Amino acid sequence: MAEAKEKKPQPKKEKKKAAKPYVQHKYCPKCGPGVWLAEHKDRKSCGRCGYFEKK
Ligand SMILES: [Zn+2]
Repeated sequence: MAEAKEKKPQPKKEKKKAAKPYVQHKYCPKCGPGVWLAEHKDRKSCGRCGYFEKK
C-alpha cells in the first residue's frame, strides 16, 4: 500500500523588507534631521556638535 504523501501547497512567504540593519538612530536635537546620534554603550552622542544623552 502506497501511502499518499500529504503535500500541502506552501504559499511563498514574501520576505518583509528589512527596514535597516542598524538600530534606529535618533536625530541630534541640535543639528537637526540628517545628523544622527551615534550609538554607544550607555549613551548616544553626536559627532558633529558633541551633544550626547544618556540612555
Ligand atoms: Zn549635533
